[in-house]
Amino acid sequence: MIEICTIGGYSEVGKNMTAVKVDEEVVIFDMGVFLPKIINFEEEGGDRRDLTTDGLIKLGAIPDDTVIKHWKGKVKAIVFTHCHLDHVAAAPYLGNNYPKAPMIGTPFTIEVLKRMVRDDGIDLKNKFKVLNVNSKIKITKNLEVEFINMTHSTPQTVMIALHSKYGTVIYANDFKFDNNPVVGKKPNLERLKELGKENVVALIVDSLYSQRDGKTPSEKVAREMLKDVMLGTESSENLIIATTFASHIARLKSMIDFGKVLNRKIVFFGRSLEKYIDSAEKAGLVKFSNQVEIIPQKNDIIKKLREIEKQGRAKYMIVCTGNQGESESVLKKMADSRIPFHFLPFDHVIFSCRTIPEPVNIKNRERLEEELKKKKVRIFTDIHSSGHCFREDLRDLIHMVKPKNIFPAHVPPDGQKYLVELAEELGYKKNKNVFVSENGVFRKI
Ligand SMILES: [Zn+2]
Ligand SMILES: [Zn+2]
Repeated sequence: MIEICTIGGYSEVGKNMTAVKVDEEVVIFDMGVFLPKIINFEEEGGDRRDLTTDGLIKLGAIPDDTVIKHWKGKVKAIVFTHCHLDHVAAAPYLGNNYPKAPMIGTPFTIEVLKRMVRDDGIDLKNKFKVLNVNSKIKITKNLEVEFINMTHSTPQTVMIALHSKYGTVIYANDFKFDNNPVVGKKPNLERLKELGKENVVALIVDSLYSQRDGKTPSEKVAREMLKDVMLGTESSENLIIATTFASHIARLKSMIDFGKVLNRKIVFFGRSLEKYIDSAEKAGLVKFSNQVEIIPQKNDIIKKLREIEKQGRAKYMIVCTGNQGESESVLKKMADSRIPFHFLPFDHVIFSCRTIPEPVNIKNRERLEEELKKKKVRIFTDIHSSGHCFREDLRDLIHMVKPKNIFPAHVPPDGQKYLVELAEELGYKKNKNVFVSENGVFRKI
């Protein structure tokens, strides 16, 4: 018998975690954080390092895994889809509750996780296991885990197929179907179709944008938008600054490519950029460090900025942290002069991202843009394509894998209802084989 527990990510957008019990063995998919809770806590003067695992659960920042405490000794593996914080960043805190369960992920995901554990000085007992995309691993006599390559806003993202004698459970958080990814392989649709001919008993699926009509635009579209802004605007006397999510390796690659066309020296500022690029290089995905200068530390950034102002700003392009206006990011510090730098009128700032629709992010971005506008900087926003599937991608996925049961995920119930509507169009019935869930719900299938 198979039982599914929706531990986190079903009552908020964040802290994703789901457990699947097959007879007496349990596999956990993802262990993420709900970042806005941590940002709010820190903006009110708190320090996250002071928080215990229990404290983080109480704050709502990490999933409340006490709901599966009766399954604790049965957990055989913790498997990750990709390296985003809302999927992996609770692992350093919750992993020790299941010390014998290996943590399984793609090379890039495991590199990011290792770095996180090392940087936070956490003593994590779990072993790390690397599994490549489009590969399988037997985790017990009865259970096999398969990674199906997917596309998303960070490389080496996978759908996880858990094979058992009762059939296959597919965990599809997060993905889009992108046939032109700038970095990495295309989504493995052939394998999904094959699984659809077998027995997929459950599909747990990213429903964040299930209300959006159409298909998510490819990363190639975002690359063209960026090209248009970088190469199609007048910038010959100005500095260009660009920012995106630090884990968005494909976008960073596009920035480097067009910066080179402009013949600019490219410098990367910020610790998180250094961290993700280092992980991507260790995983053999890209080699940026021989093309650009990567400077994580504040004092070195200040020195470099002095050089840029002296040598001529139009010779440079800066890629830095701060796409959400985060108070500790390099761009925000430059804008409010905590890092000494003089913006000049008509310098370019490109936000190659979207603002995460949480009050704290919206407020931070507004403040940053106001400060930049006061300095007469030219601002380009929303140069971006989402990493999450829209409605027609979801329809294709359901068609391909033909699941017996569907569990909308990655969004609270009021967002899950759109996937339920879509499933009903395809012949499913609410509460019979498509289920709306909050955090902490158990369901036998
Ligand atoms: Zn993601
Ligand atoms: Zn996510």
